Amino acid sequence: MRGGRIAVVGGSIAGCATALAATRAGADEVVVYERAAGGLRDRGLGLAVHDERYAELEAAGYVDAAMPWVRLTRRSWLTRDGGGRSGRRLGQVPFPFRSYNWGSLWRELRARIPASVDYRQGAAVERVLPEPDGAVLHTADGRAERFDLVVGADGYRSVVRAVTRAATVPAYAGYLAWRGTVPAGALPGPPTAWPEDEAATVTFPGGHMIAYRIPGPGSTGTCANWVFYAPPPPSSAFVPRDPTSLPPGTVTDELVAHHTAVVEEHFPPYWRELVARTPRSQATVQPLYDLAVPHYGEGRLVLAGDAAAVARPHTGSGAVKALQDATVLERCLRRAGTWDEAVAAYDAERSPGGRAMVALARRLGRAQVQATPDWAAMDQEALERWWRDAADGERGFGGRALTPS
Ligand SMILES: Cc1cc2nc3c(=O)[nH]c(=O)nc-3n(C[C@H](O)[C@H](O)[C@H](O)COP(=O)(O)OP(=O)(O)OC[C@H]3O[C@@H](n4cnc5c(N)ncnc54)[C@H](O)[C@@H]3O)c2cc1C
Repeated sequence: MRGGRIAVVGGSIAGCATALAATRAGADEVVVYERAAGGLRDRGLGLAVHDERYAELEAAGYVDAAMPWVRLTRRSWLTRDGGGRSGRRLGQVPFPFRSYNWGSLWRELRARIPASVDYRQGAAVERVLPEPDGAVLHTADGRAERFDLVVGADGYRSVVRAVTRAATVPAYAGYLAWRGTVPAGALPGPPTAWPEDEAATVTFPGGHMIAYRIPGPGSTGTCANWVFYAPPPPSSAFVPRDPTSLPPGTVTDELVAHHTAVVEEHFPPYWRELVARTPRSQATVQPLYDLAVPHYGEGRLVLAGDAAAVARPHTGSGAVKALQDATVLERCLRRAGTWDEAVAAYDAERSPGGRAMVALARRLGRAQVQATPDWAAMDQEALERWWRDAADGERGFGGRALTPS
């Protein structure tokens, strides 16, 4: 399916990757509409990509070794009770991941989009009108444009998804992810206290925190990235039915106080200090959602990334899933003889995987946050058994394998 006009709504990870897919597949014109007026490059914290998924995406040409990353090999599980400064080690499991700084990954993807793509910033799509042979996009500045195909890469509150028959809405999972970064120079101990290739999990009843190194901002050195999962305080003003993320600098005193109290009560000294050294301006809070659409494609609309499926971050697959969507979209556009064939092939290939990742994320959330085990009673053997069950035999942890082309 060569030629034609393709619009991509959203210019984040899925948006940049699908714009690349559309140009590689031979679209005549590709327009990206990104609501944010400023660059996204300085926002975001860490994310991880499984080695096997990286290899597939590298072969497909969506990531490469020049994108700054840090090697992770194992994930340790720690508890405060009976431990020293860093806590008592319950055990460890393999963790073959590359970690990235979200901002630098976005910047590298953005830089790979050819200049022929019209990437518009500050361009919010307000309405999408599907037509039998295309779709019309209406933007906030009153303009309307028609396209042969529209890619909804506009995240978990997608306006493109809203006009499909599968107008599924995300469901709040009942707990939050507090996130932050600490510069390597501000770590509370010598580098040997926490090896660079180790992702550390600090456990407590009702949640956990995972911490790992990522490339520093602007690709200088490394910094420590942590994500702390727990419910908000029971009487929280922040527990509305439909909470949105709190970007850096806007996390409320109530949520900071709750987080600090849990850390003070349950964390070994090293990890308590790590969290305390996080500049408040760097901390964010993200409510977690589950969302899986029955179909990734309908008429001349396709969904990609979080617009199609939101899996809680425990699966380590958010960015991978978005990049895989782009890879498959390119393949389907190249092979199909008509737009309808391309949309149907993409839908058939991506929909089951999206649903499976969301199911796995729910399972991991239950095991690690909503129904935590008696962590302190675990040893290496018990931890391995529990992890195999929690991660459903690790099928899909870090993202499902791409079907060979
Ligand atoms: C600024 C930012 C920082 C992030 N940081 C991290 C991180 O540190 N770690 C992590 O694991 N994940 C992070 N994420 C989420 C991560 O990018 C996604 O979970 C995953 O990579 C899939 O991305 P996506 O492109 O599908 O969705 P998103 O990254 O959510 O991108 C959706 C994009 O669509 C744009 N958009 C939404 N509605 C409209 C509209 N109506 N018109 C035009 N544009 C619209 C948004 O501005 C946004 O740029 C971040 C997302 C953003 C936007």
